[in-house]
This record gives sequence, structure tokens and C-alpha cells, in this order.
Amino acid sequence: MTDTPDAPLHEPQFALHVEDLTVTYGDIPALWDIDIDIPPGVMAAVVGPNGSGKSTLLKAVLGLVRPVAGHVRLFGRPMRAMRGRVAYVPQRSAVDWDFPASALDVVLMGMYRQIGWLRRPGAVHCTRATEALRQVGLEDYATRQISQLSGGQQQRVFIARALVQEADILMLDEPMAGVDATTEAVIIDLLRDLQAQGRTVIVVHHDLTTLRRYFDWLVMLNRRVVAQGPVAQVYTAENLRRAYGGQLAVIEAADIAETPAP
Ligand code: ADP
Ligand code: MG
Repeated sequence: MTDTPDAPLHEPQFALHVEDLTVTYGDIPALWDIDIDIPPGVMAAVVGPNGSGKSTLLKAVLGLVRPVAGHVRLFGRPMRAMRGRVAYVPQRSAVDWDFPASALDVVLMGMYRQIGWLRRPGAVHCTRATEALRQVGLEDYATRQISQLSGGQQQRVFIARALVQEADILMLDEPMAGVDATTEAVIIDLLRDLQAQGRTVIVVHHDLTTLRRYFDWLVMLNRRVVAQGPVAQVYTAENLRRAYGGQLAVIEAADIAETPAP
């Protein structure tokens, strides 16, 4: 077993390196023998049709589902050596929003490593968490129960939680699904700031029409990796057809470059 925190570095030049990864639920494969390399400092989108394994990929990277084969490295290290350096915003539908916690509580949960599990957050933590809520435009909602926030506001609370984690890698599962245009703009600006600070941002993205505008790296998934690389090279009609198969409406709506994007 080489998968220990002090295992030798493996492909350390990549923020994310996935090798021969297969994940099944029961007997049904959700991801089949996939290899992915994402360089540091990119804003990467993961796209693919419903059920193509996008959420499963993030969960496998995070160690939330157990692969039947393959392994994952973050900057050359296994996940368990990197836990404090990865932030995760789950798909909205996967969160129990009735959980009794205020917006501030949820953000503070992102700081448990700094705070220590059995300690209470101090003034410095609350100040930082409040600042993160301000960054996402929710400074007036700190004491509001998360169940009492709109979908877009809930999503921003989770992004504030990711901000306070000060992670090197951020993974967000459809953060812009079902949010209004204002929230989408807030989210993309925050993600760009993080990228400008040198963080690597990996986003499961549902909207092909904004793909080229928002992202510089692309992984197209359909249980297998259909294509990956710089958006300008990978985002082609041919690859869309291979990923989305017969879903012509999706492909027609997509903002495909006839000539590669600059
Ligand atoms: P995506 O995020 O691309 O929509 P998912 O990774 O959520 O896809 O799911 C991939 C496939 O695995 C789908 O067919 C889905 O129904 C199945 N799946 C996902 N989670 C589970 C689970 N916990 N148990 C059984 N099947 C699952
Ligand atoms: Mg999903």
C-alpha cells in the first residue's frame, strides 16, 4: 500500500492527477478507467451529460467514494495528506438545507482546522468568517438560518465557507446551477480572484454557453474522459458530439468556436 501521506510524490507538477480511476455503484460503473491531469492555477470546467460521473469524480478525488481501481494525487500527494488544502462546495441538491445552522455557523465550519475540533471559535475566526460573508455579498445575513435563505444565497454561503478554508484547490459542483444572474456574476468574480491568487479552481459546470467565457481548462466526461486540455483546443463540435451523443439541443445551444478561441 503506497497510498500514505509520506508516499513518494507522484506527478507533483499537476494540481490534480487521476490515474486509471474506476468507480462503481454496485456493479454499475460511474467512471471507467479515467486519467485526468489538471495543471496548477487554471480555472477548469468539468462537463458532461447528466449521469456522466461528474459529481462522482469530485467525490472520488475527495475520498468520499471509494474507487475500485486507480488513484488520485493532488500536487503529487494522496488526498489524506492534502485535506486542509482542498475546499469543496457540494451540489446544492446533495445538501440537507434544514440542518439548523446560521450562515455564519456554516462558514465557521470551514475553519474547524484552524479552530480545533473541540474549541469554540474566537473573535478572530468570527471576524474572518464575517469578512467572507461580506465578500459574497451576505454580510447582512450572518445570523439567518441557512434554511431561510434563497438557493443563490445558500450557494454563496458555501462559497464563503470555501474562501475561509484558504485552500490551494477548490472544487465546486454546479455552483451556478439554479442561481440568478447576480449570484452567478458574484460567484465567477470570486473564482477569478482565487485563480489570480494562484489557486486551482475545478468546477462542474452545466452551462455550455458560458464555458469559453468562464474557463480556461476543460475536462469532458461521459463515464470515460472524452477530451481534456485548454478550452480553446478541446471545446469542439466533434468532442461535444462524442460527450453528449444524441442530445442535439445541447449541442446546438452551445457556443462552439468554428475557429479556435484566442
Ligand atoms: P453527474 O454528476 O455527471 O450527473 P453522478 O456522478 O452523480 O453524475 O452519477 C453518475 C452515475 O452514477 C449515475 O448513473 C448515477 O445515477 C449513479 N450514482 C450516483 N451516485 C450514486 C449512488 N450513491 N448510488 C448508486 N448510483 C449512483
Ligand atoms: Mg452531479
